Amino acid sequence: MPYQEALEALYTAFRENGILCKWDEPMSLHTSFKIGGNAALTVWPSGKAQTVLVLSLWRELGGGCPLRVLGKGSNVLVSDKGFHGLVVLTTKAKRVVFEEDEAPDREAFRRAAVESIAPFCRVYAECGAPLKVLSYICGQPDRELSGLEFACGIPGTVGGAIVMNAGAYGSDIEQVLVSTEYYDLSTGQIVQLRDSEMDLSYRHSIFLDHPEWIVLSGVFKLSYGYGPAIREQMKKNRDSRKEKQPVEFPSAGSVFKRPVDNFAARMIDTAGLKGVAVGGAQVSEKHAGFIINTGGATAEDVKALVCLVRDEVEKLYRYRLECEIRLVVDGITDTDTW
Ligand SMILES: Cc1cc2nc3c(=O)[nH]c(=O)nc-3n(C[C@H](O)[C@H](O)[C@H](O)COP(=O)(O)OP(=O)(O)OC[C@H]3O[C@@H](n4cnc5c(N)ncnc54)[C@H](O)[C@@H]3O)c2cc1C
Repeated sequence: MPYQEALEALYTAFRENGILCKWDEPMSLHTSFKIGGNAALTVWPSGKAQTVLVLSLWRELGGGCPLRVLGKGSNVLVSDKGFHGLVVLTTKAKRVVFEEDEAPDREAFRRAAVESIAPFCRVYAECGAPLKVLSYICGQPDRELSGLEFACGIPGTVGGAIVMNAGAYGSDIEQVLVSTEYYDLSTGQIVQLRDSEMDLSYRHSIFLDHPEWIVLSGVFKLSYGYGPAIREQMKKNRDSRKEKQPVEFPSAGSVFKRPVDNFAARMIDTAGLKGVAVGGAQVSEKHAGFIINTGGATAEDVKALVCLVRDEVEKLYRYRLECEIRLVVDGITDTDTW
């Protein structure tokens, strides 16, 4: 096994620091596609401090072994060969702090905010906080914060959502994100970026261009709203997903980015590709923009099907669909472009 010595040194250091880690963890257990071979070493830091420690230890002891940070694995396709380095799963770094809870008098803070011209509450969330849960909490009667209604059905973490600028139903992370803190693997520094510095656009952020920048946390600015309306909007969004998306099958959501002036799903449907399958991977009958794992699909099946779909759509539209899903390759031999 390449990098074995470095990985053993990391394993020992993680154990000495009381950080949960495991050898040969199947990534199929940690991706929404339920696809992916084993990661040589997987680590679950329990919060921001441990995440920084894990990343610093990797800089010190990793000896150049590949590293990949994943949240809920809901926007990735992991290679059947697995990953030959260290996978950092952020899902245990999920602390959330509401500004109103930090105020000396929470009710006074809320009253003052609601009566002001800018009725906002800032919310700090560590990278592994589940976006859906954060969205749900914001809608509850004791919060009634508006802004994350769009996110109530997105199965990722805050970190993954910032990296992908996740969005739905006419909104996205860009609309509510104020700042992000990241760890720079190349310098070992922790850096803060303001919203305007993150190059946020449709399913894009600066972090996609800088894989060496690991998102540690984000601060969101949410407005005090009318609770029943917030909850009603969330219910509508959830119901619409259930009706239109194949949520009963493992997938990674929409495979392709939306082209300008069209919809990937419509183009795939028009090309007659609904239901087309390669191995266990199938273009969903319910939503042609999704590829589902009907059972036992491999990453190679999904890749072959993606290729087929892109080729057929290109023949018809002279437009090559761009993949939204990120590839997690083995870290040594594969390339990470579709
Ligand atoms: C059923 C379903 C519905 C979906 N609906 C939507 C939708 O409506 N809108 C939408 O935008 N997306 C949707 N998605 C896709 C996905 O949920 C989002 O892209 C989500 O934001 C990904 O978060 P994650 O934590 O799962 O990221 P992952 O899939 O774990 O990672 C995504 C990318 O971000 C990187 N990454 C993750 N965490 C960090 C970090 N802390 N620092 C640096 N890099 C990191 C990973 O290396 C990877 O490149 C859907 C997916 C599914 C399965």
